[in-house]
Amino acid sequence: MLGPTAQNLEDKTDSGSSEDGLKFLREKGRKIAPELLDEEITAIYAGLRASTEHSDFQIRAHQNKYITVGGIRSTGLTASMAIAEYVKDLLVKDGLILGAEKALPPITMPNLGEAFKRPYQDESAIAAKSGYGEIICHCERATRQEVLDALDSAIPPTTLGGLGRRTRAGLGRCQGFYCHSELRKMLEGK
Ligand SMILES: Cc1cc2nc3c(=O)[nH]c(=O)nc-3n(C[C@H](O)[C@H](O)[C@H](O)COP(=O)(O)OP(=O)(O)OC[C@H]3O[C@@H](n4cnc5c(N)ncnc54)[C@H](O)[C@@H]3O)c2cc1C
Repeated sequence: MLGPTAQNLEDKTDSGSSEDGLKFLREKGRKIAPELLDEEITAIYAGLRASTEHSDFQIRAHQNKYITVGGIRSTGLTASMAIAEYVKDLLVKDGLILGAEKALPPITMPNLGEAFKRPYQDESAIAAKSGYGEIICHCERATRQEVLDALDSAIPPTTLGGLGRRTRAGLGRCQGFYCHSELRKMLEGK
């Protein structure tokens, strides 16, 4: 994957991608991480960034504990926890009284990378739960039990995109052509 690059476009609904754009990205990628160019491209996407004329995020407190959080351009995802903390501080400064802090449910992220043994390769996991031996997304080798685990987790995904980000199911080369209908059934509890 090559990192995102930004362009200021006249048409704010234009989220298309182009051959020239890809060439430009590959050239940049070649300089940063040349080995990545030997990897296959599994998805091409473009999106609109919530940028403003300011270079920084626009977070403001208004009257009556009303906060606007806008212009959260790139790095907004990475900064999200810090933004939440900042917003909380603004609300407290404005007189909000917080209750006692509650312990969060312990959350263990599943291993989605190839650096460690994945469930489909793990005989003991498969012996304990046969669903780990049933690959549902063949591109990403995500198993039925991993999908069930995600759906049964403390904060379960509610969309195919969310399920994909938790398990990688549907995010591979075929972009869900083979597994999306089955994943949707599971998501809808059928
Ligand atoms: C291609 C791309 C790659 C990126 N990569 C990274 C990255 O690697 N790391 C990183 O930290 N950040 C990255 N970002 C930036 C990150 O995605 C944003 O900073 C972040 O999503 C902003 O969060 P937000 O909640 O402010 O806005 P959004 O995530 O845009 O959420 C706004 C929501 O409001 C909804 N909405 C809009 N108008 C209305 C309306 N009138 N009524 C009701 N709902 C409405 C929208 O549908 C949307 O769901 C990337 C962005 C893009 C586009």
